[in-house]
Amino acid sequence: MKAIVLFSGGLDSILAACLLKKEGIEVVGLNMITPFHDCSQAAQKRADEIGIELVVRTFGEEYMQMLAHPKWGYGSNVNPCIDCRTLMLRVAKELMEEIGADFVATGEIAGQRPNSQKIHQLTLITRESGLGGKLLRPLSARVLPKTEMEIEGTIDREHMRAFSGRGRVKLAGYARQEFGVKSIPQPSSGCVLCENSFAPRVRDMLKHKEQPTLWDAQALPCGRRLRLDENAYVVVARRAEDCDRLDELFASPKRSRCVLIFPKNYNGASALLVTDEAPDFDDETPTMTEQLERYVETAGALALRFSNPARYNASPEGPVATLFWGKTSRPLALHEDPAVESIPIIAEPNRPPKKENASESNSESESEGATES
Ligand code: SF4
Repeated sequence: MKAIVLFSGGLDSILAACLLKKEGIEVVGLNMITPFHDCSQAAQKRADEIGIELVVRTFGEEYMQMLAHPKWGYGSNVNPCIDCRTLMLRVAKELMEEIGADFVATGEIAGQRPNSQKIHQLTLITRESGLGGKLLRPLSARVLPKTEMEIEGTIDREHMRAFSGRGRVKLAGYARQEFGVKSIPQPSSGCVLCENSFAPRVRDMLKHKEQPTLWDAQALPCGRRLRLDENAYVVVARRAEDCDRLDELFASPKRSRCVLIFPKNYNGASALLVTDEAPDFDDETPTMTEQLERYVETAGALALRFSNPARYNASPEGPVATLFWGKTSRPLALHEDPAVESIPIIAEPNRPPKKENASESNSESESEGATES
């Protein structure tokens, strides 16, 4: 028999994979990269350690559609965990059919996570994923309804486990004693959709755009984000790497309409103005509307607000930037404007989404673990 195991490299998924391997089942791990969480490196390391093949898949725009309109709503922040898990399991189902595996398994533990692992939520996710009786949760199988495999007898239910709840100690002990896992992965801080410091930016994006794209998501962690009005926001670089990131975002053919303001005669912050007033990516002769001109002036003043006056005042002609818009560019004189001081920054994330080294993913941010009854 062959099983696809949703595999983050966290303790739960390691145990689920090890338990199935012990039953003589061939395990293929599946790691999912979302626009807000990537633990594929940690997962690969752990997969190598326990000797399983790992397939990594990346979500595209379908993830953003789900995020903007989650059928089952959000968790404590902007984390649509039930829909997210469902989407992951649908990918797992596709992979199962693609490679001729017999069922899908996860390391989920009943009652462990409040947003997606209460028993009724697990049941809901099972149904929504389309997997039905082909979805096994080996660590909690004995407290959950029987799967097809258990009914047929191809999986011995008595060999499965009955963990439930949030404690971690017994789970770690089980990992050490039963499978000789020496380094127990730390519980993850999870995906940034759960983080208080990041969520306001996501809310701002969702509030102002009916269907945000992956590009919009990629712009979220960058620099300082300031909203001008319902139709425009500005991202001002905070560090040198933000300037590179803004360049990349502007160069993307999939970008939302935006213009880039880049310092020309001084060292300072660049700014990306995102608004539907901006020209198309391909526009070779863009038009400066009155509204766009006002936005550009404000964005330029914001770029100065976060730059060093000693540097931008050093030049006799005053600070000049290059305005990149459509397929063209032109010089842009910048002016200070005290009014921009009152434009609030929409939360400054503690950290951008990043690759994790050794932690749980494809999961929620709470501490992981369980007790066994
Ligand atoms: S916390 Fe996990 S399940 Fe919830 S949205 Fe983030 S990646 Fe998806």
